[in-house]
This record gives sequence, C-alpha cells and structure tokens, in this order.
Amino acid sequence: MNYDDRETLPISRNEFSNLEIFKNVQFEKLAGFLLGCKTFVADPGTRLIDPQNPVRQVYILLDGLLEVRMESRGGSFTDTISPGHCVGEMSVFDDIEPSALVSAKEKSRLLMIPHDVAMSMIRASHELCLNFLQILSQRVRNNNRIVCEEQFHLRRMEESAKVDPMTGLHNRRWLEEMYTREISRSNMGNFQLMAFMLDIDHFKNVNDTYGHLAGDQVLISVAQTLTKSLRPSDMPVRYGGEEFSVFLPGTSTENARIIAERIRSNMENMSIVLSDGTFLQVTVSIGFAERIAGDTVASLIQRADQALYHAKQNGRNRCCMNLGENDGGMVLF
Ligand code: GH3
Ligand code: MG
Ligand code: MG
Repeated sequence: MNYDDRETLPISRNEFSNLEIFKNVQFEKLAGFLLGCKTFVADPGTRLIDPQNPVRQVYILLDGLLEVRMESRGGSFTDTISPGHCVGEMSVFDDIEPSALVSAKEKSRLLMIPHDVAMSMIRASHELCLNFLQILSQRVRNNNRIVCEEQFHLRRMEESAKVDPMTGLHNRRWLEEMYTREISRSNMGNFQLMAFMLDIDHFKNVNDTYGHLAGDQVLISVAQTLTKSLRPSDMPVRYGGEEFSVFLPGTSTENARIIAERIRSNMENMSIVLSDGTFLQVTVSIGFAERIAGDTVASLIQRADQALYHAKQNGRNRCCMNLGENDGGMVLF
C-alpha cells in the first residue's frame, strides 16, 4: 500500500513526522493503524472531552488551540494544548472516566484515534510509548507547580487575613489562634503570660483636630513605638480601632510593671511628624493582668481592660495592674 496516498490516510507522512507525539516514531510502524483514524475540524467551543458524556479516544491536535478546564470543589484550573500534543490519553490508559472538560479554544483540526487503535499503536512502538510518558510527566510536573503556587497563594491570603494592613501588626484573629496553640502546646495550659491592653488617650481629639489621615499616622507611629519597646517574644496586636494588646509570655508581675511603664514613657516622649510638618504628641493608658488557669483570650483581655478603664478614670497617661479581687484589686502607677 502507498501510505503517502492522502486518499487513504488521514495525515501525510510529512505531517506525521512534524508532530511532537510522533517524535522518533517510524511512520511505517504506525501507518497501518492510521487507517482506522480520521481527522475533523472543530469550531471554537466544541466539546471534545466532556466528563458528562465520556468517550474513550485520543485526540491529537494538528492545528488550532484547545482549552482544558478542570473544576473541583469550587476551585478551577485551566490549561491550553498546542498543536502536536494530545488529549484524552489518560482515560485510554487508566480506563477511568475523564475529569476535565476539553474544548476547542480556536478553530482546530484534530486527528481522532479510537481507544483500541491507540493501545495497539503503543504496543507497536516503544518510541510512541516514550513520547506519551514524556507528555504525561510534563503534565504532572506542570500540575504540581500549579498546585504548589495555589497553596502558596492561599497561605499568603490566610496570613494577610491575620495582619492589620495599616500598622503591620497582627490582629485579634491571630491572637486567638496563637493563644489556643500555646495552650495546647504547654502542659495542661499552665504557662505564665501577661496581657496588656493599651488605648490612646483622647484619640478622638486627634481625628477631630488634625483629620482622619493624621489619626492613621498616629496609629502607625504608636504601633512602631510599641514594637520597639518590646522583646521579640512578646506579641503586640492591633486589637481594634485605637486599642492595642500585647501578650508577654514568661513575664513576672514586676517585669510587667517595668515594661508597661517603659511603653507609657516611650509613647509620651514620641514626636510624630505629620505629612504637613506638624509635630504631634500623644499619651496612652495601659491596663494589664496575669493569665490564670482556665482563661480564654476574652476573659484575660477583660481583666486587662478593667485595669485600663481604671487607668483612664484616674487621669490617663498611666498604667494599672489588675491583681484580681482576692489580691486587692487595682494597682495604679
Ligand atoms: P479615651 O482617652 O477615653 O480613650 O478617649 P478617645 O477619644 O481615645 O476614645 P474614643 O473611643 O471616644 O475614640 C476613639 C476614636 O478612635 C474614635 C474613632 O473614630 C477612632 N478610630 C478608630 N479606628 C481608627 C482608625 O483606624 N483611624 C483613625 N484615624 N481613627 C480611628
Ligand atoms: Mg478606645
Ligand atoms: Mg482612646
């Protein structure tokens, strides 16, 4: 038989040897099988592989562009297939119904190889088998890369949901997670922790006098000074609005007094320069309490907040420690 006869074969020897999938494959070895295949033209949007309507065959793209779309649990993934490459081979190899939808992205010409013919071709040519393995390896690698990138993106999104974009400090959500993690890590949750609540004094006046943008600048400066006044193991958080909290692990009552006073004094001595050159100064009030067994973030913060309220009631720009009712209540300094 004359295999170059275009009347009998769907693709010519020349076209065959230019296709990636037939790289290093002898035309004569497969020409007989090509008799059982045919070419056709698909208009854009034509579904070639449809999980709703599965047919087991391999399509080799001769011209045009295909789109692969995979959807699962709300996530989706798309890829394109260029000429010389194939689709549908996975279902032919593993005999499992396709999970991706493949359609023509542009007007495309394809060679269609039925399931049994594709298997016979692979049995007849080691080179073809190797080409399929290479294509599958490339796809697995590519898909792994996409999955890794998506996970990285997801982790970044999760991280950014726990950071206050204005000050760069962590937020309340992070604090809750951190606290729960610390409790489960430490033996029965018996670890020493001091909680500070800090609130800017008369902050509303800053906004009213200098404007909201100046208020934001003050919040950023307070966050910076707070961080500079702490040890790396301390956990400053923008609790909300103009309130900050700090969890200080392994801190004694005496040290907490020293640190609170240091923060208060650093804030009082801080000069904030607004964008128009105006100098501004603010003060803060700080309340704190020591963690007791069984505390949640909310119950611990509540005791620190009571001390903060006491500091505000007693003139602001000062610190107050909540010793608890049994130990004599509030200590101002
Ligand atoms: P006190 O000394 O009792 O704490 O008085 P205060 O004025 O600081 O307290 P108040 O709770 O009355 O006001 C807090 C203000 O903080 C009101 C609110 O508009 C402002 N605020 C909260 N979040 C932001 C923010 O992100 N940016 C700015 N500029 N202002 C904020
Ligand atoms: Mg407040
Ligand atoms: Mg305030």
